[in-house]
Amino acid sequence: MERAEVRFSLAYVSLSVLVVCPPSEAQGLGLTVQRLLAAWLGSEHRHFVRYHCRRTAATGLLHALLPLGYYIGMCFAAPERKLYHVSLLSDGWRMFLALAVALPTIAGTLAYYWSRNGWANHPLARTLALFALPPTGWQAVASSIDTEFRRIDKFATGPPGARVIVTDTWVMKVTAYRVHVAQQQDIHLTVTDSRQHELSPDSSLPVQFLTISVASVHPYVKAFDIRLNSTEYGELKEKLRAPIRNAANVVIRQSLSDLFLDTFTSLVERNQSYSVPSNQELEPCIGCMQMSANIKLVKTCREESEGECQPCYCRPMWCLACMGKWFASRQDQQHPETWLSSQVPCPTCRSKFCILDVCLIR
Ligand SMILES: [Zn+2]
Ligand SMILES: [Zn+2]
Ligand SMILES: [Zn+2]
Repeated sequence: MERAEVRFSLAYVSLSVLVVCPPSEAQGLGLTVQRLLAAWLGSEHRHFVRYHCRRTAATGLLHALLPLGYYIGMCFAAPERKLYHVSLLSDGWRMFLALAVALPTIAGTLAYYWSRNGWANHPLARTLALFALPPTGWQAVASSIDTEFRRIDKFATGPPGARVIVTDTWVMKVTAYRVHVAQQQDIHLTVTDSRQHELSPDSSLPVQFLTISVASVHPYVKAFDIRLNSTEYGELKEKLRAPIRNAANVVIRQSLSDLFLDTFTSLVERNQSYSVPSNQELEPCIGCMQMSANIKLVKTCREESEGECQPCYCRPMWCLACMGKWFASRQDQQHPETWLSSQVPCPTCRSKFCILDVCLIR
């Protein structure tokens, strides 16, 4: 090989790698399919399903064009090879050319077939059709996914090549060529593996990645794996309706605040409880607006006039989880060992209280 050919080959291979599995830097440069075709793909936020039907088709076609691009580039980089004279080609180059033409032809035909009838032939649309209730079609399922995807309380994580999205009804994994979809009500989730990575730019702690298999009881919905950082595990569990089995007995390293919340809850459950008069109705917690308020701060740690804690006369306004989050948020984040023994102000009246003063309402 001549120098020019080697240089061109190396450059082209690097570019191809950038296109096929873009690192986050390349995404900033706009080298991804999403950036290049943004106008045609439309908005993921508004039309999630249509966006991904188009994106997967375009990604397949673009990647399939890479070998042909190499061939055409080589015609210019190495003119002495006369690659533009198809009849003079060596067997090796002839085979490469055949492949380079066949790949985009197949990908293009497939993309065209998928796009017929408003993308009804796309694998994603076919999966969605499995969930459609007879009089309505897959479009009805698609628009329910679109609606749920627009909500801000969805769970979303992962790199662009393997994003995990959990909405109220759906668990989805978005990869370069596919979108896996399963309905929350008919899946079993199992932690199957965990891996430690020592490297993490923003923390000194090793990072643990969990692999969770998502298996649907629906016979035509294929099982798939999702991966996430163990610190996101608590948030994922909150979004899921079904429990996650831990088959491999993986020790899950939760985030500090999740760990604290577990401890806080078990300590508060040991405190004495508080009973409200039967005619007093409990309002929704003003922190989350979902649970009803079930916490009353009563100074019970020491005598009325002793110690740093002060009596609080506020009516119950918070749930246990929100009070735990408030308690954690007022702590010195660098010294978790002091958290349980410290005093924090009541979120409403600012009277100081400690964990012993947090009473559950029964
Ligand atoms: Zn709450
Ligand atoms: Zn108070
Ligand atoms: Zn106290």
